[in-house]
Amino acid sequence: MIVRFGHPGDAAHWCAAEGAAGRTLGFVPTMGALHEGHVALVRRALAENDRACVSVFVNPLQFDDPADFAAYPRDFEADVVRLDAAGCSMVFTGTPEAFFPERPAPVDPGPCAEGLEGEHRNGHFAGVATVVARLFDLVQPTRAYFGQKDFQQALVVRDLARRRGGPQIVVHPTVREPSGLALSSRNARLDAEGRQRALGLHRALRAARAAWLAGERRARSLQRVLCGALEREALSIDYAEVRDPERWSARAPEGELDRAVALVAARVGAVRLIDNLVLSAPEGEAG
Ligand code: AMP
Repeated sequence: MIVRFGHPGDAAHWCAAEGAAGRTLGFVPTMGALHEGHVALVRRALAENDRACVSVFVNPLQFDDPADFAAYPRDFEADVVRLDAAGCSMVFTGTPEAFFPERPAPVDPGPCAEGLEGEHRNGHFAGVATVVARLFDLVQPTRAYFGQKDFQQALVVRDLARRRGGPQIVVHPTVREPSGLALSSRNARLDAEGRQRALGLHRALRAARAAWLAGERRARSLQRVLCGALEREALSIDYAEVRDPERWSARAPEGELDRAVALVAARVGAVRLIDNLVLSAPEGEAG
């Protein structure tokens, strides 16, 4: 049976007791409305640690748009049922005041916060870094698990953990529907037509990967393929860009690339979706 807490302070006590008993703790921070992508992270955390625990907190600090924050799906009871079925050891949630009893000093999200999501969502990564630092303080995990689905976020969190001296960050590949659509809590806000249109993100990423596999290495050409494919889709594009996945740069790299990741953000109606694919990864590891 899963242990659940409605206050982060109680969760912190539980985590401290587990740590004192010598047990390793795998931690999966989430914003809830859980799906199989989140569950994959929990299963991995369970496989690699004695205990797996999950936080469910829609963090107001990382939303630059109050309407987006208000519309974000929330269903804590369904989340607990799903986590219990997956074998998760503990889940906790709480109010913003319980997570942040005092107004938090913003945590520097570091250089990987520059560009793309950082540029399009004002203050987003400072909000992410601030809440992740707080969650790490509460849970003191051995390892923390993040999805490749949020590629730039994983870079920001890795950098944050490096600066703090831990925990170990594990990045898990993106879980997709058979259609290729990346699982996302926001998909719950799409109707049948919206889901079809959302598939355009993955189609465009596949087109860029096909170009890479055919031998294209020029950053600008890969970008053109990606944008060209997206323009054929009925989507409102925030960005569609190529980066070196191991040397983050705010601006698009020039010349030929040894490694590449394509990243897209687009809106289907009012729903903003992001996705990415590592063009240079072996099949099955592209995300
Ligand atoms: P969220 O609740 O959207 O903040 O996501 C919590 C964690 O789950 C983040 O580390 C996400 O990157 C990860 N995640 C979300 N969707 C997926 C997915 N489709 N596959 C793998 N990980 C995911």
